[in-house]
Amino acid sequence: MPAALCAALLPLLLVAAPKPAQVDTARLLNADREPGQWLTVGRTYDEQRYSPLTRINTGNVDQLGLAWHYDLDTNRGQEASPIVIDGVLYVTSAWSKLFAFNAKTGRLLWKYDPQVPGSIGIKGCCDVVNRGVAAWKGRIYLGAYDGRLIALDAKTGKVAWSVQTTDPAKAYTITGAPRIANGKVIIGNAGSEIGVRGYVSAYDAADGRLLWRFHTIPGDPAQPYENEQMRAAAATWTGDLYWKLGGATVWDGMVYEPATNLVYFGTANGTPWVAEARSPQGGDNLFTTSIIAVNADTGRYAWHYQVTPAETWDYDATSPLMLADLTIDGTPRRALMQVSKNGFFYALDAATGALLRAKNYTAVSWATGIDMRTGRPIEVPEARFGKTGKAVVVQPGGQGAHSWHPMAFSRRTGLLYTPVVETSQGFAPDPNYRPRIGAANAGTGRAPASVYEGVHADVPRNARAFLIAWDPVATREVWRSDLRGTIASGALATAGGLVFQGAQRGEFSAFRDSDGAKLWSTDPQTGVVAAPVSYMVDGEQYIAVLAGYGTRDYYAGNNSRLLVYRLGGKAKLPPPAAPPPPRQLNPPPLFGTAEILERGARLYNENCTMCHDTAYGNRGLFPDLRYSPTINSSDAFRAVVLDGVLTPRGMVSFRERFGDEDAEAVRAYITQRAHQALPARPAP
Ligand code: CA
Repeated sequence: MPAALCAALLPLLLVAAPKPAQVDTARLLNADREPGQWLTVGRTYDEQRYSPLTRINTGNVDQLGLAWHYDLDTNRGQEASPIVIDGVLYVTSAWSKLFAFNAKTGRLLWKYDPQVPGSIGIKGCCDVVNRGVAAWKGRIYLGAYDGRLIALDAKTGKVAWSVQTTDPAKAYTITGAPRIANGKVIIGNAGSEIGVRGYVSAYDAADGRLLWRFHTIPGDPAQPYENEQMRAAAATWTGDLYWKLGGATVWDGMVYEPATNLVYFGTANGTPWVAEARSPQGGDNLFTTSIIAVNADTGRYAWHYQVTPAETWDYDATSPLMLADLTIDGTPRRALMQVSKNGFFYALDAATGALLRAKNYTAVSWATGIDMRTGRPIEVPEARFGKTGKAVVVQPGGQGAHSWHPMAFSRRTGLLYTPVVETSQGFAPDPNYRPRIGAANAGTGRAPASVYEGVHADVPRNARAFLIAWDPVATREVWRSDLRGTIASGALATAGGLVFQGAQRGEFSAFRDSDGAKLWSTDPQTGVVAAPVSYMVDGEQYIAVLAGYGTRDYYAGNNSRLLVYRLGGKAKLPPPAAPPPPRQLNPPPLFGTAEILERGARLYNENCTMCHDTAYGNRGLFPDLRYSPTINSSDAFRAVVLDGVLTPRGMVSFRERFGDEDAEAVRAYITQRAHQALPARPAP
């Protein structure tokens, strides 16, 4: 080629090279014309998590193999869905770290670590996780665990701007993915268990300017209300805890509807969980556990639906929200759907919030149904332990029948594929509850083991997770998977007739969408709780999923990885890490008076159980302290608990809450529990 012609073509070639992450409203509205992309955390504005790709299908899925993988440098929880734009895959890991890969080869293009201080780990209820990022006009938007919203250049990973969206003095964290609506980055936060006032904010994607903020719970009544909704909401509360402790954070489910220009989001429980402790003279406690619609440009309130009025069992209404066109009673409706933590499925009219469908999708014992006229649950009075003062077993438990784990909707079958966990929990009031600013505030007591006496054998004592196919119009279960473990795992539906889902017990599988037949399965060497996504590069379809969630235990690590599969993929995982040597309980001799042990138990329950609770399953993420060698030494225990020597790993100093004697009382209590777990010695 003559040099002159080559020079003439050069500018054209430069122009043709795609700039990374060029996502805008037009591209998102037409996402189906680019089925190979995964442009937002839920692929499209409606967040159906449905891939129109068919190259991988029911006929060939058995040939699926590993294309590439990337090992992550943390054994904490992995909950993110990747996004994939023009051959680049962006994904986050625990501690809000962001990675950009060549989606075909797995080559790391850049990574960004926001350097969230380890000391922030204590601010969250449920691990230092992150559920994904948003892309807009050449930038990637990341919510960091410490409350920052960060815009990065999609090509280089360089920070374009960064804003603190929360008061760093309070226990706010961000784990959810930002959403983009009309050039605004919408972001919420978490912290309802610990006592922060919930809100959602919109920032200008271009420069990080705060454009609007909608609070979900009224503030100090001595100050002016931010808007009429806050004034009205204040009338649904009594006492003064609500504005001191807050609650109703917007920590996950969020979706944007361009047709109405509304942003929908779900809110968490109030603080504390127990309604009678939170609002002693009653009231619905708006806008806790609600689905709220606001105008995307102004943040102005449009409508709300309170899922669980005067909520008391930790039934956040923060599960994923999804939009779909359903034909209900012969009429096409634009429906906003949630498979809520409280055990009920809801479909609301997206424009008005009118209740279209409400039905339990799993066994529920706190309510017998939803009154379709008023939209309110028909409660079972015994379930309100705060009112009766009696411990009670409630289904579902506070873990929820379905929490943040993404569901998927197939346009092929019209079915919703959702993870479900069958659970129960013994709830008890705590007559000695006292509000604690900046610390765990469930406000519940410990139900005695006897609470299960006389409870029907069908009520699960241990959590059981499944994938179910749910007909959202007929509101009935069509099929369910095998047992997937004790924790849910996110789903992906494809036009190839497949539903992909991981399992906390360590499996990644493909099910036939029509009948749930398991057509393919692989061993990812660890638990999978994140949702898979699918994309195409150069004619090849890929399935990508984050793995890592303590299948084995804390001491083994959990092989956190990004796994990417394609037909005929031949890549191999390294051999699984050797299991850790069996742990031995080796506590020191029992010590401490009954009074000291009781104090230790109280301090432990108030401060330690959120992470180190074996009764709550321990989730394999944090050390089981009964086995910890540090309980053998007062000095070693103090070094960790008071001096904070493990702060970089998230175990902060508790010196603000504990004195020397408190630490010793906690050590005495853990020692006692270790002795209780020792195998019984034969009688002499
Ligand atoms: Ca909660």
